[in-house]
Amino acid sequence: MSPALPASSDIPEGYGGPCRDCGIEHRVPVGPRAVTEARVLITSIRTAGRLDFDQPVGDPRLRVAGLDSPGAGQMIGVLVARGPGQENTGAVILKAFSGELLGVPRIEGWVPPLSGLSYGERKEAEVEIGTWVQRSRVAEARLQSPGLDRDEIRTLRRELAVTKRTRQDLSRALMERIHREARVVTGAGRIRPLTEVFGLPGIPGGTGTCCAPKLLSEANRRGLEPLEVAEVWIGAPPKGRPRQEGQVYPACSDKCRPLLGGILCPR
Ligand SMILES: [Zn+2]
Ligand SMILES: [Zn+2]
Repeated sequence: MSPALPASSDIPEGYGGPCRDCGIEHRVPVGPRAVTEARVLITSIRTAGRLDFDQPVGDPRLRVAGLDSPGAGQMIGVLVARGPGQENTGAVILKAFSGELLGVPRIEGWVPPLSGLSYGERKEAEVEIGTWVQRSRVAEARLQSPGLDRDEIRTLRRELAVTKRTRQDLSRALMERIHREARVVTGAGRIRPLTEVFGLPGIPGGTGTCCAPKLLSEANRRGLEPLEVAEVWIGAPPKGRPRQEGQVYPACSDKCRPLLGGILCPR
């Protein structure tokens, strides 16, 4: 399939935001090259039928059809960059996905996540949270059972409150740990904690998992000059939000805008 080009007015002006150090905005434009490359990427994925289309052997978890079930689509992004001494030659193209693709956080050929936490460490924490979710459900179900006396109800309510609070505490601790350990590389090549570069108090969950921060940090790490970025949607739209495959979407305002200026900062 070949997704339609959006009207020029639908293309966001770029990916960036205010920089706390310089007091100005740093921004990378969207640009036609990045939009084209992003759509070529979608075509390559669709033609191969898998998200690791550029690998010799496909991971069975990464069949693109998985993104077409309701609510399962994802944002992917492309960065066009220039390497040192590449002024008159071709550009380097980097590609990234937001969060995880079909539950896979790291795919060969795509830029890695910013989180310093390993997959195993995160899964371990998530499994523990899962056991508390399960305990809450059990307590909730038991509260519904007929014939409970007042003492039993009181005990079960207390149990439910404890399991819920524990689950929330563990989720918050995991999010804080992910944020604390995540690092970005700035335009000046400095490795800085995500929490320090994020320009506002109260960093939202999931900050740094979008395509643009991953792409820009990776370009900086490799000493590349970012020229253009485009984030496009692939697969089914999320529930309740209109998203169209191949359409370019702007950086999110809550997680990315307060972060991207600091990542792009050349100082
Ligand atoms: Zn974002
Ligand atoms: Zn700056």
